[in-house]
Amino acid sequence: MSLSNMPKLQELYFHPWKLPLETLILVDDEFYSLIEYLLGSTLSSLLRAQEVNSVPILLLTTDVFEHLFLKINDVTNNFLRQELLLQIDNNNSIVKNANRTKIKCLLDILKIASDRIFKEGQRIASKHQINYSSFATPSATSAVSTANSNSTLTIDDERNHLLKCIDDWSSLNENFLNLKDFKLEEGNNFRLVVKTGTNGIQASIECLCKTVITLGKLHNKLIPSNFYRHLKSPGCKYVNLLCKAQKLEEMNRNNSCSTSSSSSSQIIDNNSQSTTAVVPSRKRTSESTQQINSQKKRKN
Ligand SMILES: [Zn+2]
Repeated sequence: MSLSNMPKLQELYFHPWKLPLETLILVDDEFYSLIEYLLGSTLSSLLRAQEVNSVPILLLTTDVFEHLFLKINDVTNNFLRQELLLQIDNNNSIVKNANRTKIKCLLDILKIASDRIFKEGQRIASKHQINYSSFATPSATSAVSTANSNSTLTIDDERNHLLKCIDDWSSLNENFLNLKDFKLEEGNNFRLVVKTGTNGIQASIECLCKTVITLGKLHNKLIPSNFYRHLKSPGCKYVNLLCKAQKLEEMNRNNSCSTSSSSSSQIIDNNSQSTTAVVPSRKRTSESTQQINSQKKRKN
């Protein structure tokens, strides 16, 4: 896979869902290139020196730095020690903090990504044959199973997958545009329609602002990224209203402590017809929150 569109480690730390799931199945040279891209060549060499050659093996390795403290004296290991360790005195050295932090950061991102796969019922796993035997022998059967697994996705599968993605995205974006109460609940803030069309299963999302967004596909699987793009665009009146409401609230708070937030929602009520559903954000009662929570539980 190409690394040209891959976000840097710093970006992935804040937006871990941006890590393409395909990276989880890279092995050997492709895997080391990925590590080099994200962490630099020395840490990539450290993994290569101990044949940690894929994400699962990396996730299962207790401490990748242990290797440096083994009594191995060769050019590679001496070089790695020199680069990655900090000499305290003649007999003692420790791993430089930044190196540990980089590895920890990567592990956190990879764990989130692999959790996503496990939670999706390992659909991607079957598609790409993520199992240990496939690492050993990239067999010819994988092509056959890829073709099969695509056709077995039902409308319900696609629907559940999309809702799960949106749910993940929504919880990872709790601070979306600094909106305190930004939430995405199907049937509440958007409506998802999945149906069979001329090109197989197709899906569209109707945003609360009434815009209908057709969803695209990646590897023959529906993905919600067009919807996210819409929410981030200036064209989404739902997000615009939330931003406006929040700004007004902040202004009110700054102008006078006594003016209550009811005045701000009133202004918006006058400007828009669909406000009742949009504005509740801050004024949402505990009752309605409970309702949403219980809906969520039922979904699970
Ligand atoms: Zn919208």
